[in-house]
Amino acid sequence: MKFKLLIAISILTLISLVGIQGYLIYNSYELKHKTITIDARNAIARIYTSPKIDSIAWLYRNNFLSNLEAYKNNEISKDDLLDSLQEKSKEINPGFLEIFNEGLKTYDADFDIQFKKIVTAISVSDSLGTIETLYPEKRNDTIILLGSSFDQTDALLINNSTWQKDHDVTTENGIETFDLNFKSSIFMNITNWNSLLIRELSTLLVLSTLLFLFVVGLLYYSIQNLLKQKRVAEIKTDFINNITHELKTPLSTLSLATKTLTNNYAKDNKEIFSDAIQVIERQNTRLQNLIDQVLKSSLGYQQIQLQKEPFNVTTFLDDLLNDYELTISKKITIHRTLESTGMLLNGDTFYISTAIINLLNNSIKYGGTTLKVGYFLDTKDNNHTISVADNGIGISVKYHKHIFDKFYRVSEKDTHNYKGLGLGLYYTNQIIKAHNGTINVASGTNEGTTFIVKIPVSI
Ligand code: ADP
Repeated sequence: MKFKLLIAISILTLISLVGIQGYLIYNSYELKHKTITIDARNAIARIYTSPKIDSIAWLYRNNFLSNLEAYKNNEISKDDLLDSLQEKSKEINPGFLEIFNEGLKTYDADFDIQFKKIVTAISVSDSLGTIETLYPEKRNDTIILLGSSFDQTDALLINNSTWQKDHDVTTENGIETFDLNFKSSIFMNITNWNSLLIRELSTLLVLSTLLFLFVVGLLYYSIQNLLKQKRVAEIKTDFINNITHELKTPLSTLSLATKTLTNNYAKDNKEIFSDAIQVIERQNTRLQNLIDQVLKSSLGYQQIQLQKEPFNVTTFLDDLLNDYELTISKKITIHRTLESTGMLLNGDTFYISTAIINLLNNSIKYGGTTLKVGYFLDTKDNNHTISVADNGIGISVKYHKHIFDKFYRVSEKDTHNYKGLGLGLYYTNQIIKAHNGTINVASGTNEGTTFIVKIPVSI
């Protein structure tokens, strides 16, 4: 419970941390966005108010005023008036753009800007106050006075301006004064937003990602460690329970035997006396074996001192099985498939027989009645390959990666009845490792078990 809570709190903290970091990055992004916009606006304001640009703007204004006079004298239509305004703008635009881009260069700015000044409305009113709309109010690129066309959704408004002028027009009725109301707006568009922001924020992004990965790694490592410790603690408790259980039987038998010996009747009866002595001796050996098993089998492969000599594996296994068969029940059969490879194995026969006998003992202990021992030379990877297979209870796949761990015992209901300390496979693996070999298991519940030992030819 505590452990799960700890993990949940850690994950929540991590999520909050990511949230806060994301918020900070977003804020920096907004700030950068604002700074770049302000810089670009300032640059445009300076360039636009230069005398050169002002004189260019007067070119279309003067042209418009003279065309307005022609319109009022009915020499041209309203459309002609607007068309000619557009024509004039097109004519002066290349000159404008040149000056504008030249001006931008002096700023040595990173941003790429598009600029446009568009007509938003034009009207004239006469002395009586009658208003005539020449160009209805709209915000699109229909008439671009200066600059280049771009999508209105990308456009950032810089300012709205109104050119107002009292203009005298000579018509057939004499001089009339018109009040001109010429509205326009200036927009800009920064075209390289993404590259600008990525460049500005890349260090921050990389650092935050690294920091995040580091924290996740740390959390993962801590949780793994905690899990491992929990498992080790469980295994140790199991081991203590197992060994106590194993010690109890010989100890209680010993206590019974000593009681018999102290009994006056037994002292006079030689048979009972010697029986009791034999029991004591047997239990003593049993205790001794148990202690030896714990001491020896806990050795790591670096501590195993091998006395290596080349030997023929086929005859070695044959002899080992002949001896072994004498010690087991007649109900158990062992099939041998031992190839005569002629290739010698440079190893320690004492340790290798301990390893093979451990596997055979397990096969019988865990329900095997028909055992198969095989040997061949794997020419693909040049390994002596020994296999021990049984038709016992099998090992479910989920335990495979643990069974070679020290003190590990499969803790399924069915396996509770089998005595053991969880050291056999650990020690077997250490012996094989000391020979630079490997041991693998292939098994499933109720499918029997096969252990495959591989020892390189050249060791
Ligand atoms: P022990 O036999 O003392 O429990 P081992 O290290 O020899 O310890 O084996 C570890 C576990 O692997 C055992 O608890 C058992 O569940 C499983 N095991 C080993 N060999 C076999 C086998 N041949 N068949 C089924 N289960 C096996």
